[in-house]
Amino acid sequence: MTPTSPMRSVDDHLADILLTVRALAPLEVDLEQALGTTLAEEVTSPVPLPPFDNSAMDGYAVRAEDVRQVPVTLPVLGDIAAGDDGRLAVGPGTVTRIMTGAPMPEGADAVVPVEWTDGGTAQVTIDRQAPPGNAIRRAGEDVRAGEVVLPVGTLIGPAQLGILAGVGRRRVLVRPRPRVVVISTGAELAEPGTPLAPGQIWESNSYTLVAAVREAGGEGYRAGVVADDARLFLDQLDAQLLRADVVITSGGVSMGAYEPVKEALGPLGTVRFDRVAMQPGMPQGFGVVGEDQIPIFALPGNPVSSFVSFMLFVRPALRKMRGLPAGPAPTVRAVTVSPLRSPQGRRSYLRAVLATDGSVTPVRGQGSHQLAALAAANALIVLPEDVTELPEGATVEVIPL
Ligand code: AMP
Ligand code: MG
Repeated sequence: MTPTSPMRSVDDHLADILLTVRALAPLEVDLEQALGTTLAEEVTSPVPLPPFDNSAMDGYAVRAEDVRQVPVTLPVLGDIAAGDDGRLAVGPGTVTRIMTGAPMPEGADAVVPVEWTDGGTAQVTIDRQAPPGNAIRRAGEDVRAGEVVLPVGTLIGPAQLGILAGVGRRRVLVRPRPRVVVISTGAELAEPGTPLAPGQIWESNSYTLVAAVREAGGEGYRAGVVADDARLFLDQLDAQLLRADVVITSGGVSMGAYEPVKEALGPLGTVRFDRVAMQPGMPQGFGVVGEDQIPIFALPGNPVSSFVSFMLFVRPALRKMRGLPAGPAPTVRAVTVSPLRSPQGRRSYLRAVLATDGSVTPVRGQGSHQLAALAAANALIVLPEDVTELPEGATVEVIPL
């Protein structure tokens, strides 16, 4: 990469990334570890769900024909609670009390909710008819035995965890959440919570990126800060590769001197450094490192650039690694409230506030160091390479954040 070499398009850069990264190998995990993973097996139910006919309400199990004439007073044989084994049977002219989830007794074909009765325990007076099948949950009404409840590729969220447990699974085969190590570089970086020496700023990118990794379904780890020294950077990288499915670095990839990431990775020949036709975030490195060919994203250090780069390039890669459909960040259309500007030949991602009425307003402070402006935004306005200005009222593509 030289300052005069042609720029690469955002789309080409992403395409290259998605060709390189692979879905992670499936792994059996305990249900407690399965949230946010992707199912790598088809899950069926070994039994019908519900497994047996049971009451949908607290009330009385009856023969519908015995409550056709109401009011009627009938003897109560006993109670059936949830968890009972269902040995009690109802004969003509008798009822049992029954609780929600309890198995229906032999002979009964309807449940009368307690609200339709006087609530008696030895005998009960019923004021309303209940048709056959009333308030009964039938065996197999949710799932038949052997039926597929979750196909391969399902993203496991709370409800999916619920049905896994509901069909009796304790462990499940999944594509795990990618483990992503974030290494920040920069001699000027001080840890938040420590005092700033002259020339220093507080390190923020690793916090942003680890959080973005988590939101994108990965496990993010901060590997601390490395000063601008290629040797120290390589040592840290070696140490971190053991636990990483992906490495993200921030800083040290631009045109200046003291660019440790570029100095260290450039000579390996497996990481390419490009100028990508975008703003913010022009300098980008991507490739693989180590014996296991771990994908590495060498993102620019400016806080807005590294975050935007993450959304455009790392997030889709993580989706692919998780076994999910992966492509460019999805956009919606909105109408800009102010005129917009963009450099010729580069795709711009302007920090903006997207409103529910479909209007979008760029925030003040579009510099790639202006982190507070990013924090005030909830969207990126995308302006194509050949657009240099747009009037207020123009329709634009927007990436919601
Ligand atoms: P670099 O890409 O290393 O040339 O850094 C570009 C700009 O981003 C410089 O102003 C750095 O101080 C700043 N920067 C780099 N890394 C970080 C970081 N981890 N946190 C906050 N700012 C950073
Ligand atoms: Mg730097």
